[in-house]
Amino acid sequence: MAQYDVVIIGGGPGGYNAAIRAGQLGLKAACIEKRGTLGGTCLNVGCIPSKAMLHASELYELAKKDFAGLGIKAAIELDLPQMQKQKSETVTALTKGIEYLFKKNKADWIKGAGRLDGPGRVIVTTDDGAEQVIEARNIVIATGSEPSKIPGIEVDQTHIVDSTGALALSKTPDHLVVIGAGIIGLELGSVWRRLGAKVTVVEFLDRTIPGADGEVATAFQRALTKQGMTFKLGQKVTGASLVKSGKTVKGVNLTFEPVKGGPAETIAADVVLVAVGRRPNTAGLNLASVGIETDPRGFIDTDHFRTKTPGLWAIGDVTHGPMLAHKAEDEAVACIELIAGKAGHVNYDIIPGVVYTWPDVAWVGKTEEELKAAGVAYKTGKFPFSANSRARANHETEGFVKVLADAKTDRILGVHMIGPQVGEMIGEYCVAMEFGAASEDVARTCHPHPTRSEALRQAAMGVEGWTMQA
Ligand SMILES: Cc1cc2nc3c(=O)[nH]c(=O)nc-3n(C[C@H](O)[C@H](O)[C@H](O)COP(=O)(O)OP(=O)(O)OC[C@H]3O[C@@H](n4cnc5c(N)ncnc54)[C@H](O)[C@@H]3O)c2cc1C
Repeated sequence: MAQYDVVIIGGGPGGYNAAIRAGQLGLKAACIEKRGTLGGTCLNVGCIPSKAMLHASELYELAKKDFAGLGIKAAIELDLPQMQKQKSETVTALTKGIEYLFKKNKADWIKGAGRLDGPGRVIVTTDDGAEQVIEARNIVIATGSEPSKIPGIEVDQTHIVDSTGALALSKTPDHLVVIGAGIIGLELGSVWRRLGAKVTVVEFLDRTIPGADGEVATAFQRALTKQGMTFKLGQKVTGASLVKSGKTVKGVNLTFEPVKGGPAETIAADVVLVAVGRRPNTAGLNLASVGIETDPRGFIDTDHFRTKTPGLWAIGDVTHGPMLAHKAEDEAVACIELIAGKAGHVNYDIIPGVVYTWPDVAWVGKTEEELKAAGVAYKTGKFPFSANSRARANHETEGFVKVLADAKTDRILGVHMIGPQVGEMIGEYCVAMEFGAASEDVARTCHPHPTRSEALRQAAMGVEGWTMQA
């Protein structure tokens, strides 16, 4: 019987990073993954394929709309099969890269579905039904999440799709209706709008991207509306029915009604994308065999990644907190370091969020709404990209940077940005906040000119009222 110091169930950003870190620290480690490739949701059907499609579709739209104004003449044509192919090639290269990293760090990949079989034991079942038992001093559950469903609406991955189906459409729909104005819905809605679809977003709440700063969310909705997306906010979806001609499905009729009451509305879609969040993958793990119950939504409760059963840990989407790859990765490192007797730790106050659209939205720390609710006195510095020289040179002036700092100590409490590629720049503030920086620290740090990063500095200057370039 195979025996390990640590066995991880699930090979996503939580699981694969845990296996790599365990190998680095000299622990005998194995990762059980049932998918044919490592990398989990993130590499296979999440972060990476969506960013590959966002990048390609962004360039396509840029070429069509903006090249002429930049003095570039070109005949632009969409080659969707090639766009999908380059996406798949990237995914394959990256998932193979994880296999290489496993070998490099002497971590085993055990192929198959894992389920617990009492403390310290896991049974792995392969596709052909064969079973093997593995023993481990520590077991880490990193089984991630899957798209949430709406009762009564069946995803067929052709006409009614979830994020996985939306990444793989073989044709641009004439009308894509997205249920849910969260990050995944708006990113994938942006891809298909750029590729020619009319996009309508139906959302239960009366705002987009819940969790983001309200002012930024409002500006973001305005930007997407200007690009041609239609928003129907405060609407509860009540049903979806396939429209058929004989045996052929022609589209979907989606019905929704105002949350506050009022007449129902039905719109005709070619494709409906259900993007209403994700739910943890905990069914089938036989948690009862180790005395664990999930919460009503299926999440596993932990205290610093420890479950209440000794030697059993949980990280990533299967536990509470933001369902993000970098959160899973940080938890993986900290969890394995604790297992190895080190002082692993995750700072949950500094987990950035990014929407990789055009413009990007990026944030870290507290929103204005959270600071107000907590009664924290804060000062604000703001700087628009329209006053940033590089943004102007690039004709990319949409958006702003907002820095929130403690009114007494000047410590940075939150940063909220909307603008071109701000997702690439939020890391600067993550580092600053990890070091407990004051806004003045950023304001007095030399930034290269001409870059969009200067807007981050000018916003920090604004906290003390000395923004110089606006
Ligand atoms: C379209 C989309 C875009 C996204 N974009 C981003 C982004 O830009 N940035 C970001 O930070 N996050 C993004 N996310 C979220 C991100 O993918 C997840 O937060 C992240 O993958 C969670 O990592 P995880 O390791 O907890 O779980 P997962 O990545 O879900 O991995 C869990 C793995 O466990 C395996 N598994 C489950 N049960 C078993 C079992 N019993 N035995 C063996 N294996 C099992 C599954 O097959 C899966 O491979 C996106 C998600 C989607 C869907």
